[in-house]
Order: sequence, then structure tokens, then C-alpha cells
Amino acid sequence: MSRKILVTSALPYANGSIHLGHLVEYIQTDIWVRYHKMQGHTCHYVCADDTHGTPIMLKAEKDGITPEQLIARVHKEHTDDFREFLVEFDNYYSTNSEENRELSSKIYKALKADGKIAVRTIEQYYDPVKNMFLPDRFIKGECPKCHAKDQYGDSCEVCGSTYSPTELINPYSAVSGATPVRKETEHYFFKLSECADFLKQWTRSGSLQTEAANKMNEWLGEASDNKLSDWDISRDAPYFGFEIPDAPGKYFYVWLDAPIGYMASFKNLCARTGLDFDEYWNKGSKTELYHFIGKDILYFHALFWPATLEYSGYRTPTQVFAHGFLTVNGEKMSKSRGTFITARSYLEHVKNPEYLRYYYAAKLNGTMEDIDLNLEDFVARVNSDLVGKYINIASRTAGFITKLFDGKVRAAGSNSVIDAMRNGAKVVADAYENRDFGRALREIMSLADQANGFVASAAPWEMAKDPTKSDHLYIVCSEALEMFRLLTLYLKPVLPKLADSIERFLNIAPLKWADVGQGLANDHTILTYQHLITRIDLKQIEAMTEANKETMQATVPTAAAPVAAAQTNYIGIEDFAKVDLRIARIVDAAHVEGAEKLLQLTLDIGEEKPRNVFAGIKSAYDPASLKGRLTVMVANLAPRKMKFGLSEGMVLAASDERGGPFILSPDSGAEPGMKVK
Ligand SMILES: [Zn+2]
Repeated sequence: MSRKILVTSALPYANGSIHLGHLVEYIQTDIWVRYHKMQGHTCHYVCADDTHGTPIMLKAEKDGITPEQLIARVHKEHTDDFREFLVEFDNYYSTNSEENRELSSKIYKALKADGKIAVRTIEQYYDPVKNMFLPDRFIKGECPKCHAKDQYGDSCEVCGSTYSPTELINPYSAVSGATPVRKETEHYFFKLSECADFLKQWTRSGSLQTEAANKMNEWLGEASDNKLSDWDISRDAPYFGFEIPDAPGKYFYVWLDAPIGYMASFKNLCARTGLDFDEYWNKGSKTELYHFIGKDILYFHALFWPATLEYSGYRTPTQVFAHGFLTVNGEKMSKSRGTFITARSYLEHVKNPEYLRYYYAAKLNGTMEDIDLNLEDFVARVNSDLVGKYINIASRTAGFITKLFDGKVRAAGSNSVIDAMRNGAKVVADAYENRDFGRALREIMSLADQANGFVASAAPWEMAKDPTKSDHLYIVCSEALEMFRLLTLYLKPVLPKLADSIERFLNIAPLKWADVGQGLANDHTILTYQHLITRIDLKQIEAMTEANKETMQATVPTAAAPVAAAQTNYIGIEDFAKVDLRIARIVDAAHVEGAEKLLQLTLDIGEEKPRNVFAGIKSAYDPASLKGRLTVMVANLAPRKMKFGLSEGMVLAASDERGGPFILSPDSGAEPGMKVK
């Protein structure tokens, strides 16, 4: 039965480049959509750039352009990256569109008419230099729990605690460097607390993966509790976004209009193609709606979004599919290690996007687990599976058909390998449907192994030397090409461009799932086999990580820059002299049980007893590599009682968005205890 399906991927934010972490989601969604299209279902895949909010406004200002110019530039860049990675959207739009403005207003008015909007006065930090209210991420200060400096307004990266920005000690604006003042303002709230019963029912109705539903249960509480707070959906001017109807100077918070952007992108597609918008979005719709998202935005998609739709009169999603994050070589992507790789950089160095599509597919299993891109394994796997197993079948047989049999094949009959391949269609299809692409590829590669076994044992290159074996050679090569055709059909959602070249080589119409049983006919003419893919060399990967180390450090602007630029309050030498900086030898370094970011350092600064210091450098250093090194410490910082013990000073380290922390090293000759001045 043919289904009508609407699929979305999360909207990438329009202030930066697409990187390999983003691509986990777009490649995954694209494979799923292509599979459904091959099955003959009506399937629409829409997405858009997420364009609103303070970070976009400030970045445009910093670049000296308007937000509209910034988002137009990024839209082009994103569109090119996705196209080159063969991510085939039916529409790639922008949330800064008329359709989105209209839908956001309409939804807001419907929620208001339903009594779900409240107006409340709240107190927020305000930057008196920039004349704007500051979002949590744009306020920094000292953590109220562990007293680490330069922490964001919502959470501490050193001790991991979360708090409200008003709890920060010595707060400052990350925009101007000014000390913010507290100021009252009216905000608009969506009364999420009144949606608890609906959300409990919805999140437990099979719309979420089990692990996601469990996470939601934690947030929603038991049947009788109500842990939900109302959701603040407004922001004050200046703000780049949509003004709230009848509320001058108040704007929709970017997270209100971003998911509505899915609808707006589809509405734009409907206007271009004559599709019926209401058929897909009205309450009681018989169509299916799926959102692919990263697990970090589950809260928005599994609570705010279904509640917004439910109480404004629209249908709710059929399912939300959350996935994990990407690690590279087992670690978080890192600019200092060169593993923070943009889509563009991959294309420049590795070139073939289908290698990455194949590797990601092999790792994806439909759960929220993180997936790892191990770069050596990537090279080995692509070379072994795609070049060694799959393409090999055609490269070892097609030439004989062209040279000896006038380019015409014989219809393949039944043999045990071809039968296994045709029977495998259901297992492969089920795996694709369930987003267990790893299982689909394992199944397909096991069929490819059987096909290779068939070719190797028949050894056509031997038969070709003996004219009496001509008939048998003809059968073997024709059957091998039928196996190759079936493997191509199964791999097509993952490798659409390669499948397209193979369809041209086999001289057949674009493969659909229903073609499993439609083998090549007697006397069907194929074209001359041409080289289809090249092996990857580990050197290409090394060049890519090297290039990312360099370019990132040379060119990426940092969020910290505005602060530095605004730094005009000089200190005198006597202020600097108050800081007692000393050369310290790291006598010992160790992990701290239960601490995510800290290492415990034992530092010799020429005193009788070494100092104990907790430093937030675990993400960048293996303790063993630190032992014996010299560094610089602040020796007269007031000792601080921490959860893990007393910290008697601070080591200096450099960091920003480009990487770090990097601890300092003195030149040779420096000795523990020497004063730095
Ligand atoms: Zn802290």
C-alpha cells in the first residue's frame, strides 16, 4: 500500500558551516527518504536554515552586514554542501520567510484563543552599553558553586552545575564586557504546565524510541506530578525574528518559530508543486510525519513541539527519531586535533561523499547511541567493502561480456547465490525501514561475500583461456552481473550516485525496490565497463586533519573577540604585581573520581610541601603526559574548598573556540619557584 510521508531533519543554525557532526543526521534522513521513494511511497523531505535569534544578529553586526545578508550567504553555503553530499531535499528553505511568519502568528493566536498564553513580568540581565537584554549564553561570570571564572550564564563547564544567570558572581556581558544590570520586562509564556496530561499520553504512545520515552518520563514525572514549567516564548527588541502580533517590541523566541519552519518549508513546496498542505497537517491527517533530530534537542521536539501543535489545532508527529552525537577517533570533535572537519574540507580532501555516507550508514542502528568515525577504520572499511567486495564483482566479469559476447548478457537463471540475494530483499528492507542501516549493510555485504565466492570458484579468467568453456563462461559472467545489479539496488539509498553510474553501465532504468525480481533479459546490451571508484589513501585523511588544524587556528573568529576589543579599562603595573605567578613542576597528575573536567595536579614551586591544585584540563591532557612538565601557576590565589578537596592555586592555560585548554610551558632554564613577572 502506498503511503504519504513527510520527513524533516533538524534545521541547521545559519551562523556557521556544516560539519561532519551535522552530516550524521542529514545523511541518515536522506537514506531513509530514498529508501521510501524506491519503495514507491509518496515521500517529501523538507528542511530549512534556522535563521533567527541573538547570535545571528550579533554575528551579522560583527561582520558588518545585515542579518538578511548573513543568512543569504549561509543558505547558499549550506545548500551547496548538502547537494554535494547527495542529501536530496524536496525543499530547502529558510525560517525567515513569509510562510513562517504567517504560520507562527496563526499558531500563536490559536494558542492565545485557547487560553494557553500568559504574560508575566520577569527580571533579566540587561547590557547598559549595548542596550539589550542578554540571553544566558551571552552573560559570563564566576560559577556560584566552584568559583571557576568565565563561565556561561546557564551552566559551569568546570563543575557541571546549572544555575540561573542572576546567581553568577561578578557577571559581565560577553557582548560589550560591561557589567549587566537587572531589569524588569514583560515576557510571553506558553502554559506548558497545562499540557502535562496530553504530553504524558503522547510521549507514551509509541511516538518516541524507548530510550527517548524514558528520558521524557523523567522530565514529565509520574501520573500525579506535574514537573513542567511554562515556556518563555518571547524576547525583547533588538532581536532578529518575528514580532509578536499585537505586542510591539516583543519577538518570538527562535525556538518557537524554528519547528514551525518545517511546516513553512512544506507550505512553500505545496505552493510550487500543487500539493495539499492541509492533507498533511490538519488534525486527524492520514499521512505520516517524521522528524529526525539529535538527542540534544529532544526536549524541544518531544514536549514543546507536540504541545504547540496539539493546542493550535494541528496534527502531532507520527514519530520523532533521535540519534546520538558523532565522535572522531573515539573523542569529541576537536579543532586542536584537526578532527573538527567541515563538509567542505572533507570534499576537498577525500572528494567522494559516498564513502562517508557508507561509513555512517554502517554505524547507524536507529538508537540514540553516539557513533564513532574512526578514520583508519573508515579507510579500511571503504576500501574493503566497496572496492574489494562490491565493485570487484563487475570489474572481474563485465569485460568478458563486452569482449567475447558482443556486450549482450544472458538472462540469469536461478542459482543458490541469486536465490539468497532475492530472498534477502525483505531483511534488507526491514532494516532500512527501522533505520538499522548497519544491519542492512551487514546483510548486503554478506551477500556480496557469497557473490565473490561464486566468481572466485568459477574463475572466469581461467575459463576464458579455454574456448570449449565459452558457454559456461557466458553463464557465470551473466549471473555475476545479475548479482551485481541486485547489490546495487540494495545499496542505492546509501550510494545514489554510484548506483546512477551503474544503471548507465548496465543500461537499465533507475532501480526501484520492485525490480528485485526483474533480472536482465536475454540479449540485453550493457555498456563497456569503466572504472567506477578509487580506493582511499590514508594520506588523504592525514592531509585533511592537518589542514583542519591549520585553517581553524588561522581563520576562525572567536566569540571572545568582542570582549577583547571592548577591553579599554587598563590596569597599572601595581595591579599586575598583586598576582604572584610562579614556575611550577607538575610532580604528579591524576584523574579525580567523579569529576568530568578536572585533573588533580601536585605542583612543586620550591616550597617545603607541594601544592594541590584542581585544574579543568581533563579534556585535553592525559595525566601521564603531564608528569615532570614545567608550567605557570598563580601562587597567591585564595585556597578554595571544592567538592573533591582543597585547591591551592591555579595553573594557567589558553583556550577559546578554536581549541584548548593548552597549559603554558616556560623556556628551558626556568626552575620551580621562579617568579614570573
Ligand atoms: Zn562551577
